[in-house]
Amino acid sequence: MRYSGPRLTRREVLIGMAALGLSACMPRGTGEGGGYVFGIPDPAAVPGLPDGLFALGVASGDPWPDGFVIWTRLAPDPTGDGGGMPEITVPLRWQVATDPGFADLVADGEVSTTASVAHSAHVTLRRLAPNTTYWYRFTTGGQTSPVGRTRTAPAAGAPVDQLKMVFATCQHYESGYYTAWSHAAAEAPDVVVFLGDYIYEGGISSGRPRRHNSSEIKTLDAYRKRYGLYKSDHRLQEAHHAAPWILTWDDHEVENNYAGPYPQDPADDPIFAQRRIDAYQAYWEHQPLRVEPAEGALLLYRSLQWGSLVDFHVLDGRQYRSDQACSNDVAVDCADRTSPSNTMLGSTQKAWLQGQLASGGGRWSVLANQVAMTPMPFGTAYNMDQWDGYPVERSALLSSLAGVRNAVVLTGDFHAAGVGDLQDETTGSPIVGTELMTTSISSNTSAANESIISQYVTSLPQWRWFDATKRGYARATITPDTFDVDFMAVDALTDVLGTASVNTSWRISDGAPGAVQT
Ligand code: FE
Ligand code: CA
Repeated sequence: MRYSGPRLTRREVLIGMAALGLSACMPRGTGEGGGYVFGIPDPAAVPGLPDGLFALGVASGDPWPDGFVIWTRLAPDPTGDGGGMPEITVPLRWQVATDPGFADLVADGEVSTTASVAHSAHVTLRRLAPNTTYWYRFTTGGQTSPVGRTRTAPAAGAPVDQLKMVFATCQHYESGYYTAWSHAAAEAPDVVVFLGDYIYEGGISSGRPRRHNSSEIKTLDAYRKRYGLYKSDHRLQEAHHAAPWILTWDDHEVENNYAGPYPQDPADDPIFAQRRIDAYQAYWEHQPLRVEPAEGALLLYRSLQWGSLVDFHVLDGRQYRSDQACSNDVAVDCADRTSPSNTMLGSTQKAWLQGQLASGGGRWSVLANQVAMTPMPFGTAYNMDQWDGYPVERSALLSSLAGVRNAVVLTGDFHAAGVGDLQDETTGSPIVGTELMTTSISSNTSAANESIISQYVTSLPQWRWFDATKRGYARATITPDTFDVDFMAVDALTDVLGTASVNTSWRISDGAPGAVQT
């Protein structure tokens, strides 16, 4: 390997040169792509690198006022062994600029990556300007990645006129093309919030528009190849290239309806601990996250602030769960359901969340949540995987939400869209916030289930609106006075780009819990 410049490991925090006042005295060339620009030479001479290194695109995430994470993974053969990469250490140069042509570089540096992390790279930018749009890219071996657009959050406590947010969930690859992502990217949101089911672990099914690459995934190698398949989709890449993402996961990033250490099927117990470790590792390798796995865990719950406008609280409803009561799916109610020991968040996360809610100063408190929180009884049965399976903890959370100025819970998982009044039915308390459930990007429910679910849920008064028939995403415009949300529906999931239209629009007004259809 032959290159000069500082050798930095992937873990080192790389500091923008502009922040150090170096940009004015650094040489600046005119090279594009692999050329020498700014202070760090392109690591051009790495022998044996195949073409198409950046087949998975780039991504950014976790915007703070002073920076964000940028990500890529070298995988010229996304579903092949090792992503098609030789087992060598590869130096990557990264650049961040205030223009998409990279004339005004504000930071660059080098990071190296190896097969031990599937040739992924995470760079955490610091000391950038708040409330500013940036562009970023990676280069190595004369190859240049696509350019991503991202931004920093406004300064802590700063006034903010408006935040444009897209939120989405559930992108089963076989079920259809990612029409919704092309339209979501075209919205040019400030931020994308993803609520889980980024991949699905299942094998290949027939009669669907697309095919998975393998049978059910259970090993690190298999999880990596599955992420390779999903991330090779150019429409998903468009959405990553458009804005920073704030991500959480649900169950399918590991296995359907798993709960903490418990697999869906008890017969899987002997392998499940290692399977979860592998799934968490692969998740981190493919997402722009500030944290990394340690001792089989990944600390995903966190808060982010958007100036004085929004406090985001990102929940992890999977890693610390107690096993579902009664059944791990829809089942007739049983006494265990109301046991106070049932927990979705785990005691540490629950205490953390209650502390964050009590101390947060944002106009809107927005929870990035996985499964339905508004009660959804199916006659005498409940979906025990939803918050209905954890009602005592839900009551405690709702009483914490009662103490914040405006509580909004974003929800995924259900492959249906809805608006719910958050209200503790066990105490008859007033409405304390609004649940906004977005439908799936592509995942569907069978028509028979869709019809049964719709019959039940549309008759429930706490669900102000509900639609299980559409695929799409949701977009919100948040101001100090109003939280406006459009539930977007796409008309087709074919390889030809279909249209997206507004299914329905709702408004939440500051200080007035409960959404109003507009
Ligand atoms: Fe799903
Ligand atoms: Ca799910």
